Amino acid sequence: NKQYDYLIVGSGLFGATFAHEMTKAGKKCLVIDKRDHSGGNIHCKKIEDINVHWYGAHIFHTNDKTLWDYVNQFAEFNRYTNSPIANYKQTFYNLPFNMNTFYKLWGSKTPSEAKAEIARQIEHLNLDEPQNLEEQALKLVGTDIYEKLIKHYTEKQWGKKATELPAFIIKRLPIRFTFDNNYFNDKYQGIPIGGYNKIIDCMLKNSDVKLDTDFFEDRAFWSSQAKKIVFTGKIDNYFDFKFGELEYRSLRYELEVHDTENFQGNAVMNFTDAETPYTRVYEHKHFEFGTQPKTVITREYPITDTKNAEPYYPINDERNMSVLKQYQQLAELESNVIFGGRLAEYRYYDMHQVIASALKKTKSELETE
Ligand code: FAD
Repeated sequence: NKQYDYLIVGSGLFGATFAHEMTKAGKKCLVIDKRDHSGGNIHCKKIEDINVHWYGAHIFHTNDKTLWDYVNQFAEFNRYTNSPIANYKQTFYNLPFNMNTFYKLWGSKTPSEAKAEIARQIEHLNLDEPQNLEEQALKLVGTDIYEKLIKHYTEKQWGKKATELPAFIIKRLPIRFTFDNNYFNDKYQGIPIGGYNKIIDCMLKNSDVKLDTDFFEDRAFWSSQAKKIVFTGKIDNYFDFKFGELEYRSLRYELEVHDTENFQGNAVMNFTDAETPYTRVYEHKHFEFGTQPKTVITREYPITDTKNAEPYYPINDERNMSVLKQYQQLAELESNVIFGGRLAEYRYYDMHQVIASALKKTKSELETE
């Protein structure tokens, strides 16, 4: 007497993609979410008629044509291109590091001049084997870019000195010797016209959805509703934290409505000095070329005390990865449960990656029936 084929815990992009594919295949899905809205972290709230990215700026980008076509069936995308501005003590630089940045920093007029300057700064540093993040970054980009655009931003993000952070956090740094301010290298990029909620609503339209519903408040009842469970919440929580908690970096957002049409002239501004306590300011209307009379901005602050904070970025250090391994071993024994998405896999996923992962899991699920 199980009413549903699938109980999907979490209505984020993983859960919603799964629900869409399964209902399309004729399955009955019940989606529950503990939040008062669907969509997980891509959810937008309408304020002053502007789509406000409630859990931080989200820009869709992918190199995969199939995934691009897949999301475009739910909404048309605009031509937004992410070109953040770095604000270091009120001097502005273009990101990612490119010829505009080098021209501003050193007056370099050609790629070879910029390359020579970076090489000159790295030359005397003796950093064959970087021991920490500071040494690693210096080795990649030299002293000026590190000092003005990386050091303080990273220290604010992690709440730690760059010399105390491991080198592996920075493997590569996007650096290019053209005047191209497009942050992403991917072929396809944009923001859904009408906002991300439109995509989620479309994906969930043939499922039953219950909000304000935490699986753990009555897991026996919710589990009894369906033949199988898709779990997209925290994996450590699913196993009652028996091997300890997985750690996350987190952020806090402060929202402001300004009675002006244009506050900072760009959607994303990164604050790379030590004096400014926040890391970024988003001006949401610019994601959609909005012309509303007012504007909404969000200041993003990193938080170090993450006890009751939203779990945003997994910390892939040795301790967490070995705890995760223990939970994954238990997860493999749960034959009726599919663990998916960024919290259940304890893995940073971009939106296109989480969709790809959900599509892969639905496909193998339908094939093994
Ligand atoms: P989530 O969106 O977290 O969904 C999980 C859902 O499960 C949530 O709604 C939660 O409430 C629910 N849930 C959890 N536990 C329970 C429970 N016990 N009971 C019921 N419900 C539960 N990606 C990009 O491609 N481009 C970007 O620019 C970008 N920017 C980002 C910025 C930030 C600050 C962050 C944190 C992420 C960003 N991402 C970006 C990544 C993107 O947010 C994720 O890929 C996507 O949201 C993951 O979807 P998900 O379904 O795995 O997880």
